[in-house]
Order: sequence, then C-alpha cells, then structure tokens
Amino acid sequence: LLAPDGTIAQTIFAEMSALAARTDAINLGQGFPDTDGPEEVLEAARAAISGGVNQYPPGRGFADLRLAITEHQQRFYGLKPDPETEVLVTAGATEALASVLLGLVDGPQDEVVVFEPYYDSYAACVALAGATLRTVPLVWPSFQPDLDALRSAVSDRTRLILVNNPHNPTGAVFSADVLTEIVRLAHQHDAVIVTDEVYEHLTFDVPHVPVATLPGAAERTLTISSAGKTFNTTGWKVGWVTGPAALVDAVLAVKQFLTYSGSAPFQPAIATGLRLGDDFYHGIRAAMQHQRDILVDGLRTAGFAVSVPQGSYFTVADAAPLGFDDATVFCRELPHLAGVVAVPVTAFTTEANRSQYASLVRFAACKKPELLGEAAKRLAVLA
Ligand code: PMP
Ligand code: GLN
Repeated sequence: LLAPDGTIAQTIFAEMSALAARTDAINLGQGFPDTDGPEEVLEAARAAISGGVNQYPPGRGFADLRLAITEHQQRFYGLKPDPETEVLVTAGATEALASVLLGLVDGPQDEVVVFEPYYDSYAACVALAGATLRTVPLVWPSFQPDLDALRSAVSDRTRLILVNNPHNPTGAVFSADVLTEIVRLAHQHDAVIVTDEVYEHLTFDVPHVPVATLPGAAERTLTISSAGKTFNTTGWKVGWVTGPAALVDAVLAVKQFLTYSGSAPFQPAIATGLRLGDDFYHGIRAAMQHQRDILVDGLRTAGFAVSVPQGSYFTVADAAPLGFDDATVFCRELPHLAGVVAVPVTAFTTEANRSQYASLVRFAACKKPELLGEAAKRLAVLA
C-alpha cells in the first residue's frame, strides 16, 4: 500500500478533493452528496445524543437497527435475515469489506475474483489479506463483463467472487445473465459471493436485484450495504453485512478487533431511516436520475462520449473525442480548463489493464441540480 518511494499512496479521493479545494473548482470527483438527508433521520440522531446513546453499542450493533435492516430487506426483496445471527452492523461498508476479506481469505493460494474497474478498497483489502486478486474487465460502453472471461477467471482456487452492483465507478447494473452466472460458478467451485450493494436504492429504469434473492445464492452470499448513499450520511459511517450465520461470525471475528463496534447515536437514526415510507425511496431514486440526466446531457454537449449509467452516483465519459488520451493528465488539467474536478477511471484498475480505460473519466452526479447545471455550463468550454 506504500508508493515505491515508501510514502503513503494517497487515495484518489483525497487527492482530487484537495485539488478541488485548492482550485475552487466544482468537485465531481469524490462521491458525496451536497445536501443533507431526511430531517427525521437527522432529528433521530440529535435525540439519541441528547438521550444518552453515547457509549459503546453491542459489537453486532443495536438490536433495533439489526431488526430494521431485516425489515428493510423483507419489504424490498422478500429476504429475512435473522437479526440475531445473520445481521452485523459495521463502520460503513468499508469496514464490512475489510472484515469480510480479512475473515474469509488466508493467503496467496486464495483468489478473489472482482470486476475491473473496482472500488479502490477492494484491491487494497485483498492485498492486506495477502490473497490473490483476479480481475475480469468490464467492457466499454455497457460495462457488462464478457461471460467467457468471467468463466475463465473462476476456478477451484476462487474463495470469493466480489461483486458491486450497482457498480462504482461505471454506473453499470449487471444483467440477470451475469448475476445468474456468478451464482452458478460459485456453486461449481464452492466459492462465497460477496456483494456490495451500497447503491441498492439508486437504479434508473431498472430494478435492483440483490444477488441473495437468486435461486441457490442466499446460502453462500454475504450482502454489504451502507446508510451513507441512501440517507446522504456518508460521514456517519453506518454500514452492514447480512448472510448465513457462520459467514457473518467469521466477519465479526475480525470486525471486533478493527473497531469493536460502530458509533452509537447514528444507529437508531439509521433505523428510523430504514423505516421511512416508500415515498422517500421513490424520491431519492427520481432525484438521482434527474441529476444523472443533467450530467449526461452536459457531458455530451461538451463533446465526451458517454456511457449512460443505470445506477449509482457515477457517470463515466470518454475524453478521447476531446483530444485527451490520458484521463489522469486530463483530470489534473480540468480544474484549470473548466473549473471542474473528476477522477480518472484508471484509479480503479490494475496496472495490467490500465490501457483499456486510459481515457475514461468518472463524474459524480450526487450534487444539487443547480450545481450540476453550472458544471455542465463550465464543461461546455471544452467543446
Ligand atoms: N463500496 C462502494 C462501491 C462505494 O462506492 C463506497 C463509498 N463510496 C463504499 C463501498 C464505502 O461505503 P462507506 O462509506 O459506507 O464505508
Ligand atoms: N465512495 C466515494 C467515491 O467512490 C468516496 C469514498 C472515499 O472517499 N473513500 O467517490
């Protein structure tokens, strides 16, 4: 995890947010919302702090939040994890991912199959676990994987197939064929499926299908989610993992020595959020779709080729039609050219496959429509 000169390699998000601050540019790099979530949720956190919910919660998380997580999965997907044994609250999805990887893989003989590009903590945590990363490229512009490539990546050495759906950074929502093939391969090779569904409520025109709902999947699937993306509380770091008790226990075994427990007063607040009515959930989906549309239109007007995302906060655009073959160079110049910050997709790839993604740029749409409109206006200077 260190750079060749021994310094800490800063994450792309830290680097680009610092660049945005330095240049006073609109930050469409790091994915965090610029508005607060529902007042009921904020108020529940204030009430919890005033009401003395300020000491360590139980390691698995407060019972009522675990119950709310189960109720939410039952309401939206018909799943019913046992809140006592099959639900674990974590310090964001990040800690869930780290604990899963450290808990379920042991050394270089254990392979973890992921789609590439991938959320940056995946490769870092596979490295921390000492395991071997095997990637399957997602193919521009749909960013669906080639099924033969997927089949040839999975073998008896595969311990985990780690999926992220909807997908960061591409905005892809994987087709039923892809998800079904993942489950089939996991059975064939006795692998565990880990699915990061933090953007579960942010899909456009297509439903979200949790992997755990597919036939034969639940018994070997750990599902990770996070309150951050649903309730605009990325700074609260409340996440969770659900799945078979034995797998959740293996995750808890690690998690107890990373943080022991998550933060207390935000847990009842997120339980309140998970119980909000359907109007809230429809509203966040419609709002994000509208924001995506503003961003996609703006990028097209500026001259990018655009992969229209079906989910998540993000849109990937190709800067090659603008004359930029290297998105890293482009992203360093963009604040000066147009007053906007974005991130190069190569921040989410292996060295070996970098060239496939060299001119692709990720833009975040989790911002107010007015700000996205202003960014679109600024980007138009590139046309
Ligand atoms: N997975 C994905 C795909 C993400 O995009 C993010 C947040 N950007 C995380 C995990 C981390 O979630 P959290 O903030 O809850 O730790
Ligand atoms: N998940 C957000 C993104 O992909 C930011 C996460 C972070 O800053 N680590 O932009």
